[in-house]
Amino acid sequence: MEKIIVKTDGAVSEILIGMKWESAGELIPVSGTAIITDHNVNRIYGERFPDLPVFQVKPGEASKKIEVIESLAERLIESGIDRNGFLLGIGGGVVSDITGFLASIYMRGIKCAYVSSTLLAQVDASTGGKNGVNLGSTKNVLGCFKQPEFVICDPLMLQTLPEEEYLSGLSELIKTAIIGNAKLFEIIENNYEGIMKRDPQLLTMLISMAVNFKASVVSEDEKESGLRRILNFGHTYGHAIELYKSFRHGYAVACGMELSSGFSLARGYITDEEHGRITGLLRRFKLLRPHMIPADLVSQLIMRDKKKSGNDIHFVFIEGIGQAVTEKIPLTEVVKYYLQEKAEN
Ligand code: ADP
Ligand code: ZN
Repeated sequence: MEKIIVKTDGAVSEILIGMKWESAGELIPVSGTAIITDHNVNRIYGERFPDLPVFQVKPGEASKKIEVIESLAERLIESGIDRNGFLLGIGGGVVSDITGFLASIYMRGIKCAYVSSTLLAQVDASTGGKNGVNLGSTKNVLGCFKQPEFVICDPLMLQTLPEEEYLSGLSELIKTAIIGNAKLFEIIENNYEGIMKRDPQLLTMLISMAVNFKASVVSEDEKESGLRRILNFGHTYGHAIELYKSFRHGYAVACGMELSSGFSLARGYITDEEHGRITGLLRRFKLLRPHMIPADLVSQLIMRDKKKSGNDIHFVFIEGIGQAVTEKIPLTEVVKYYLQEKAEN
């Protein structure tokens, strides 16, 4: 088991990796706690939940909306959860987003914690304290920063995850390696079988390395003013592709990383060999899919990414495997590279 402490201005939270998820019951207050989960997770794991009120949402991104928050809040009131209440979210990123957002506004804020049950949530969503719900098709536009008391990442829960969901999470793990940890990248390259088999010990190590890196970034830059931007590697193109093709997040980000790596090569930041290793790894895990956004839509879809400021974008390049750098460049250049790349292939 590995314990990683995330310290930010407002709070300290503990990420517990390789801990049995059932231990959550011992870490939460015995009264005034409610569980938020989704139907799939409840079906597989619900019987072993602590004996507490359980509120379920429908699985999937569509549950991340203000109406769902409103109806959950009503149910918390009905079950007598007050200002001293506590929410335990058990599920993937959708559940932690909903739980964190609800906990941060209910009665002006109550405590919360997560059991993260998807690889994406374990390596990414549950560290950093960002949460949010969507407004129409604009993602995460209503949300805030709320550090959970603890997050349990139990790799055994990943055994029941559908293959697409698992690989989508792996993409975000590879992202962390590319921007911050060359050793992690190498371990992923050398452990294809173990990763595909979802070996719990290997996963505990990989998730710990990814969370350690994210925790160090977030501790230095909780509110995303500078350093934290590097976590968006692959996401400028990725979000546009996700909007256009409706791929799962990790697959869209993988395509975005392929493009961003190519863009880094074109600007002389990395070598051909480094670019080859990156695309090779993404291809090996079958994360790359065709996407061809029509020319007149590319800039529109990239503009929807709320990380832009004016007509410029803080674009994340890599200077080598394990080293990211951001550069403020005109949106037109980002669009131009996409179209040029697509025209060549
Ligand atoms: P993400 O963490 O990728 O944002 P979601 O919260 O949308 O993901 O979860 C992805 C899907 O996987 C949902 O349908 C969810 O119900 C399901 N799911 C979550 N955790 C597990 C698990 N451990 N086993 C099986 N299915 C799961
Ligand atoms: Zn992401």
